[in-house]
Amino acid sequence: MVFPCQHEDCRRAAATVEVTRRGQLYIDAEQDVIYRVFPAAQGTIRITGFLPYTGFSSRVPNLAAAIDAVSAGDAAALHALDQTWAPFYCHRCDRSFCGEHWDLKPAFSWGFDHYSGTCPIGHPHFIDHC
Ligand SMILES: [Zn+2]
Ligand SMILES: [Zn+2]
Repeated sequence: MVFPCQHEDCRRAAATVEVTRRGQLYIDAEQDVIYRVFPAAQGTIRITGFLPYTGFSSRVPNLAAAIDAVSAGDAAALHALDQTWAPFYCHRCDRSFCGEHWDLKPAFSWGFDHYSGTCPIGHPHFIDHC
């Protein structure tokens, strides 16, 4: 599901979010690792196309809710489930923005650590390492 940027008339995608049910074919090796580390995970969620370093797979403990939020394109619901699943969403604006419209700077300690900055309106935002 593509979440569009909602900044003025921007036509870019903010990010693509995919939920994979456990038992479906793995998209990548990260998912295999997730099931080994979290045997109870019901599935995985993957966020791609946003900012560098934010494309990752993560375990999904509540698959039905995650599928509902993603298939409805509901970034607010996704953010409410787990804010790391909607790093492109500003909850104070109630909008999603593409990487170009966020004013975010990556910070590194060893590897990537976090992004900090603001949304286009100036709300502070922080994306932790995942
Ligand atoms: Zn905002
Ligand atoms: Zn945009």
